[in-house]
Amino acid sequence: MKQLLESSLKSAVLYGQHYLANGKVASYIPELAKADPHQLGLCLITKEKEIYHAGDWLVPFTMQSISKTFSLIAALQTSGYQKVFSKVGMEPTGDGFDSIVQLETKQLIPFNPMINAGAIVTVSCIDSKDPVKEFLDLVHKLCANNEIKINEATYLSEKKAGMRNRSIAYLLESDHILEGDPEIILDHYFKMCSVSVTTKDLAHYAWVLANDGLDPTTGERLIEGWIVRIVKTLMMTCGMYDESGEFAVKAGIPSKSGVGGGIVSVAPNGIGIAAFGPALNKKGNSVGGTHMIEYLSKELNLHYFANQSDITA
Ligand code: GLU
Repeated sequence: MKQLLESSLKSAVLYGQHYLANGKVASYIPELAKADPHQLGLCLITKEKEIYHAGDWLVPFTMQSISKTFSLIAALQTSGYQKVFSKVGMEPTGDGFDSIVQLETKQLIPFNPMINAGAIVTVSCIDSKDPVKEFLDLVHKLCANNEIKINEATYLSEKKAGMRNRSIAYLLESDHILEGDPEIILDHYFKMCSVSVTTKDLAHYAWVLANDGLDPTTGERLIEGWIVRIVKTLMMTCGMYDESGEFAVKAGIPSKSGVGGGIVSVAPNGIGIAAFGPALNKKGNSVGGTHMIEYLSKELNLHYFANQSDITA
């Protein structure tokens, strides 16, 4: 098993490299444009907590949209199910992550917490004197790394360039969905997106989710089971922007991506995976990352809906 995992991760990185020419780093946040599009890294943690890695697994990058899963957990923990889902829905959009159109034409509340509009609302639902600290404490616990912090340069860059997110927040405020000062909520959102992590940190987070919120090595409960179920379901249906359907068919693993190039994937059998590659495809997902996860899904039979003939083939 050890050899299979080591060689699968190495081969996945080589496989991902073939696709890098099809991608581009995000440039709408100027700080992200400085990333090296050739980087690719992977980390996988087994149920028994064995860590496997390949490529640029320890290169730091900002979480970006992956923060939406942590802010959803913090909102559900502090405000509860009823309050959070009275302000944000559970449906995929089929639109881009920063789209504003459905807020005007279809329904007032954002479709789901995995798009910018929905995440701005969930951030506003973190019921704490210091929502950013609440968020960071959660990240430290679930990634098992107390050194994780905000990348100041990216935060300032996002804050300066974030006019589209400002438009979303003010539209939500005008419809009485956002409670509180939009500028303060946006500031919290930009800080959360700018938290710097590695694939090792995110693989640990995925490992906790893959084990239903428990640390299987100690039996300690880190997140309540009902929250893990919601987060994993929304990752599967909405976590990869408007490519969520295709990714579910091809990889079949609940995952969340961010425009910093990260992908966190909650695999079956208690396995947590994180991928990194800043070159993005047209939908905003890491082009190398999506292919590496698809590769691992096939090699290691990690598709949630795999049938017996796939597994024995
Ligand atoms: N901070 C980014 C934004 O608000 C996050 C987008 C993403 O990763 O999808 O545009």
